[in-house]
Amino acid sequence: MVRTCEVALPLPLRTTFTYRVPEALDEPMVTGARVVVPFRNRAILGVVLKRGECANGASLKNVTELLDRVPTLSSSLVELGRWISNYYLSSIGETLRAMLPPAVELQFDREWQISDAGRARLQELRSLAVPSEVESADRTLLQLLETRGGVVSDGILRNIKGNLAATSRLLRRKELVVRGAGRHRAVRMQKMIAWRDQAVPAQSDPVEHRVHRVLAESAGTVALGSLLKAAAVSRAVVQRLVKEGKLVVSEEPLVPEQAPFAIDLIPPVNPLNAEQTHVVEAIEGWLRARTFHPALLYGVTGSGKTEVYIRAVEATLALGRAAIILVPEIALTIWISNICRARFGSTVAVLHSGLSDQERAREWWRVRRQEVRVVVGTRSAVFAPLEGIGLIVIDEEQESSYKQEEAPRYHGRDVALMRAKLEGAVALLGSATPSLESYQRAREGKYELLYLRSRVENRPMAAVQIADLREDFRRTHKTTPISQDLREAIARELAAGRQSIVLINRRGYSWFVLCRSCGATILCENCSIALTYHKKRERLTCHYCGFARRVATACPKCNSEHIYFVGAGAEQVEEHLRTLFPQARIARLDRDAVRNKRAFAEVLSAFAAGNMDILVGTQMVAKGHDFHGVTLVGVASADAQLGFPDFRAAERTFQLLTQVAGRAGRGSLPGQVIVESHHPEHYAIQTAASQDYVSFFEKELHFRRLMHYPPFVALSSVLVRGAKLEKAIHWSRQIEAFFESQKISEIKILGPAAAPLSRLKGEYRFHFLLKSSRRAALNKIVNKCLAFCSEKGIPDRAILIDVDPVNLL
Ligand SMILES: [Zn+2]
Ligand SMILES: [Zn+2]
Repeated sequence: MVRTCEVALPLPLRTTFTYRVPEALDEPMVTGARVVVPFRNRAILGVVLKRGECANGASLKNVTELLDRVPTLSSSLVELGRWISNYYLSSIGETLRAMLPPAVELQFDREWQISDAGRARLQELRSLAVPSEVESADRTLLQLLETRGGVVSDGILRNIKGNLAATSRLLRRKELVVRGAGRHRAVRMQKMIAWRDQAVPAQSDPVEHRVHRVLAESAGTVALGSLLKAAAVSRAVVQRLVKEGKLVVSEEPLVPEQAPFAIDLIPPVNPLNAEQTHVVEAIEGWLRARTFHPALLYGVTGSGKTEVYIRAVEATLALGRAAIILVPEIALTIWISNICRARFGSTVAVLHSGLSDQERAREWWRVRRQEVRVVVGTRSAVFAPLEGIGLIVIDEEQESSYKQEEAPRYHGRDVALMRAKLEGAVALLGSATPSLESYQRAREGKYELLYLRSRVENRPMAAVQIADLREDFRRTHKTTPISQDLREAIARELAAGRQSIVLINRRGYSWFVLCRSCGATILCENCSIALTYHKKRERLTCHYCGFARRVATACPKCNSEHIYFVGAGAEQVEEHLRTLFPQARIARLDRDAVRNKRAFAEVLSAFAAGNMDILVGTQMVAKGHDFHGVTLVGVASADAQLGFPDFRAAERTFQLLTQVAGRAGRGSLPGQVIVESHHPEHYAIQTAASQDYVSFFEKELHFRRLMHYPPFVALSSVLVRGAKLEKAIHWSRQIEAFFESQKISEIKILGPAAAPLSRLKGEYRFHFLLKSSRRAALNKIVNKCLAFCSEKGIPDRAILIDVDPVNLL
């Protein structure tokens, strides 16, 4: 019998792999531990799913290295990973990789090795009196390898000019061999100690007892140094216990301590109003029950949801349990984690993609060691390796950024609900504009519904006025990005020394470039998308693939010089405001103006401190920041999103308008909001103006029912893509035939149709949209479809499955 283990590898494959555990590895392979294994000339990091045995393991490859004695992923996280993989039809290996910390201690590289044939060839080449250019290139390369002991890393080889051709030549002739290697980086490691699960401490030995108590209390692994101190024992004691099999030793990267966290924030003590008190008491009751409890906190903007979250976390900690707060974007992570650190000190960790690998690894391992009891982060923080979770907060649950748009395509909110279920925890979804799905579930009684109907200190909601842009044009005979009403309002605020925010939800200077002679718009070379004009960078760029070209002076199709820049983006609105109000202090907040978190924080704090008069920007300005001096919010072109070919266009417009309107009048001064629109009668704009969520919900729900969209049906999309148009069409036809052969009455299948983005990053795209009121049926057919595709030899990467898609482009 040979020992084996089943390993999940981070590849877009729906299978797992079996490897042999070499004799020399005497540690047991535990579920959730990381291993390095060989795979097609590469070394890759996988996760052990289970161990096994097999009678004839001769054909199996060996595990190269076991990285963890104590599993990196706990068994409950592995279980969550399996659920995600089943629900979203994603590869289990890619799913688990998304849950792992950055492997800062490892570096994966390729190594090139000279073969016997290579050595023979080198002899031959050396004897040549007048080698050709090719021969001398080969000789140089082989010589380099030989002088370095026969093996060099990819990095060294890549640095030598003209080597690519020679390398592939030699590889073809088998004079070179390539293989993958996982090299340990020069990272300092620290020894971590844990008590072995089944081991029983000797009753008679007080020293051993102390060690056991310290480890039991910490619930995770403890650094050797800390253990020696806390248990007041010597190294020899630990060594003895390791020998006796009572302690498990593992290693972890020792990452430098973070720079002390800048807390210039004095924790505000906000007394709760009656509504908040009621909500917090309800949550406390559920926490004490220690069972899964999903709830939706619907609170109008400015109603003090954050304070409720903090109190709920406080109650969770008091019960000895841990909490995760998920927020939709990095900027909010910084804001909420500052509040949390001010309240809860160093037991707070932050996890988001804006951190460096080193920073993220450090935070992750602090959580894994259970030094942390509160985790604040974006989407992937739902995988934080906390134990004993009592509460998961999902702030702004309606945000589409919770959906991961690359494999594994999970929805952070829905995964959070599942995790809370597995952990017997409270899942608290919060929003001023709940998603249709969540609010409907709450109305059906599937979620508990909590309300915060009034703003803190009973501040009134801002008065909203709609500026009809058609009317504005009739009056002024001009199309400017700022209507007359908005201009006058800003002027009034400036004169009174108060602050304004102007939202324009388009980046760049002009939305697109149009030829007036032939009517063509200038498109991206790789995507079926109009290029956006960026004036300062003097470029036309694609916001989907990053393609950029020089600003055209003539139409690329008909060569006419009558080209026309259409639509005002944030860059142009800022420029326009500077011309209108030359004395005003104006800052812009969007991804082009603010490229890193420091610049972002600088703009925000300058504005919050009152050193700016006007803040212009994309939806970045709409989110949760508490500016007390803002009395006016203007929305330039509220319709920007309404025309999108997506059934959620109205919902997104309503959400954005409501949120940005909520920025006005947060201090003691009342607020005013001006919304510019060409479609002032549209219900999304009307209900946002009256800040009437429930009316919007009813109207939108009616539309969804009529059109068979969520929450009435479950959706899955199957996207077929290929660099060659004929292939993409051929595959789509095959899949179409497959779906037809299935004839399932309870599933409605639309397509194949050209996707709204029919070309993206150089690939042609067709899609199917599957609808059903029974999710299980939907899942089954998509699974069958995937099996069909691999049977027909349609490449894995050509098929993209999106379960509960958020973005249908
Ligand atoms: Zn033209
Ligand atoms: Zn593009």
